[in-house]
Amino acid sequence: MAEKITTSADGVLNVPDNPIIPFIEGDGIGVDIWPASKLVLDAAAKKYGKTIEWKEVLAGQKAFDETGDWLPEQTVTDFRDYLIGIKGPLTTPIGGGFRSLNVALRQILDLYVCLRPVRWFQGVPSPIKNPELVDMVIFRENTEDVYAGLEVEAGTPDAEKLREFLKVSFDWNIPEMSAIGIKPISKGGSERLIRAALKYAIDHDRPSVTLVHKGNIQKFTEGAFIKWGYELVRNEFADVAVGWDDCNGKPGSKLLVRDIIADIAFQQTLTRPKEFDVIATMNLNGDYLSDALAAQVGGIGIAPGANINYVTGHGIFEATHGTAPKYAGQDKVNPGSLLLSGVLMFEHLGWTDAANDIVTALEATISEKIVTYDFARLMEGATEVKCSEFASAIVDRL
Ligand code: NAP
Repeated sequence: MAEKITTSADGVLNVPDNPIIPFIEGDGIGVDIWPASKLVLDAAAKKYGKTIEWKEVLAGQKAFDETGDWLPEQTVTDFRDYLIGIKGPLTTPIGGGFRSLNVALRQILDLYVCLRPVRWFQGVPSPIKNPELVDMVIFRENTEDVYAGLEVEAGTPDAEKLREFLKVSFDWNIPEMSAIGIKPISKGGSERLIRAALKYAIDHDRPSVTLVHKGNIQKFTEGAFIKWGYELVRNEFADVAVGWDDCNGKPGSKLLVRDIIADIAFQQTLTRPKEFDVIATMNLNGDYLSDALAAQVGGIGIAPGANINYVTGHGIFEATHGTAPKYAGQDKVNPGSLLLSGVLMFEHLGWTDAANDIVTALEATISEKIVTYDFARLMEGATEVKCSEFASAIVDRL
């Protein structure tokens, strides 16, 4: 009988061989990439005597059509109860309508880490010369920053009230008809994100953690993020890690913690990728940076992601791209992003053998130039296959 994943008091997951894992199929291309990913995940798990009982939970269009609610309470309850889940992309309207369901899920479950590993897989077409040098893991803060959604619309009574308050209390002159957004960056929020990045770097033998920020301009928000980061290193990690200024850039055998301003980070991660290992940054920087880095190693069609709370044990693994509505239902797109999010989930569950097997089979498939349209258009002599056929080809090579 299938069982729940549970967590011990120290936050360690207890994973049975037959766990129940909730999934959201996702809007748009979710109907294509979820069945394809599931096929490969099930086959790899089976090799090691493991069986997942997938429990469908609703969100997005499918939820609205069936329940009249875009994010039913039951979905949140299920993710809370079963701890670990996986999801396809969900539609978010721009400039109005409901708030992002993805952001809502992250905030309700307090999934404060957005984990986005960026590495190259053998055979994947890349726009850079040495994609094999790209091997970075981004820890993006997931609950704060301008992403917290604290903003008022231009011309509304709320915007006028806030403008007036800022004039009277701070002597800040905000132009008329301004929309105003608030950017909260807290000490606790920054510390827990950076702590998770440091622990990950130590556990995975990574030589450095780079804090990416715009602290030169946004001194009290992004500037505080790095100040708190370096303090955390001194207060909690002094035996295993050291900040750049405290060692003149020479950490010896310790983990080196350094920082870099966001704009130059975009340049250097491209021109000197070897110098970057684990990256810790705030919500908006992390959003831009993770897509830009993914472009170096094959694009968002193959970039995995996860949203995790390392204290409660909750985690939702998800495709990093959107719903690509123009391709929905065509069995055409690359299932790689959702599949590799599943691989990340397997690694998180301790199912490393099954995870490694999927990566090896994926690389074998791509090396034989059996690929979906997105890679086929970048490769010479490729055999373009459908989303489902790509998944079957991976299973054949497991
Ligand atoms: P998108 O859905 O990510 O699609 C942009 C482009 O990326 C596609 O046109 C396609 O490029 C490529 N692409 C995306 N997924 C692919 C895949 N699996 N295989 C191959 N190529 C893929 O971005 P969008 O059009 O800006 O957003 C559409 C909706 O998704 C919006 O409502 C947005 O809010 C939502 N969204 C959701 C999430 C999430 O659920 N986590 C994340 C981002 C966006 P080509 O046309 O060049 O082939």
